[in-house]
Amino acid sequence: FIDFNDVSKRFGDNVVLDDMSFNIADGERVTLIGPSGSGKTTILRMLMTLTKPDSGTISIDDEFLWHEKRGDDLVPASEAHTRKVRSKVTMVFQQFNLFPNMKVLRNITEAPIHVLGKQKDEAEERARELLEMVNLADKADFYPSQLSGGQQQRVAIARALAVEPEILLLDEVTSALDPEIAAEVLDVLRDVAKTSDVTMLLVTHAMRFARDVSNRVLMFNEGKIIEDAAPEQMFNEPQQERTKAFLRSVL
Ligand code: ATP
Repeated sequence: FIDFNDVSKRFGDNVVLDDMSFNIADGERVTLIGPSGSGKTTILRMLMTLTKPDSGTISIDDEFLWHEKRGDDLVPASEAHTRKVRSKVTMVFQQFNLFPNMKVLRNITEAPIHVLGKQKDEAEERARELLEMVNLADKADFYPSQLSGGQQQRVAIARALAVEPEILLLDEVTSALDPEIAAEVLDVLRDVAKTSDVTMLLVTHAMRFARDVSNRVLMFNEGKIIEDAAPEQMFNEPQQERTKAFLRSVL
């Protein structure tokens, strides 16, 4: 499980996260919503170790991302420790970020072979299963540039799952796509949510998507989580005025 404890982050005078604390249990599918600039992507980037908190701690399964326990003390983590904890996490980006010079199959097998040390045959077999799951079994030998945006995003999802993550981060994965194409990606993610027990954290402005895929929604505002509820509650009966105003502006 994921634990953020009193995490703060500022960029210059801009306080993005203000002593933020929350937990996410294994297998939860959590959507982060809130106005632009409220720190949602920063949370995902911290889990990927792309952004470091100014203070506070983040742990995954009781292992700190940026710290190590030394007796009763917490000391800054070695790079190897951070890398090990972070290896449980993968992220899918708005812009797919596939390797353009590799065919689809190799995009998916690259990390399993070179990072996890899997055998090529085994990695390819798993990659073909994942391509089947994202309805792209016939595209294994295509290059990314030969695929539509929605297809590329589905390959990116297959690639993320190929490293057997415990935690899958999805950052605005449908916002570069036309609504119809976004629906294909959404279908795939609904399947992933149903068939795997991966913990999902998603940032999206598409509230239908949040409602369909997640079982918990966190509302961010001015560096704090101001509301934490199941989707039905958050979207039908928000409690905070700020949440109501935000939802009126996006729904
Ligand atoms: P959006 O919905 O627009 O994606 P968000 O809630 O995901 O917003 P973040 O991307 O987490 O917001 O950014 C929070 C704030 O931090 C923004 O004001 C952003 O400009 C600022 N910020 C993020 N990264 C940096 C950086 N490297 N340097 C300076 N400011 C940054």
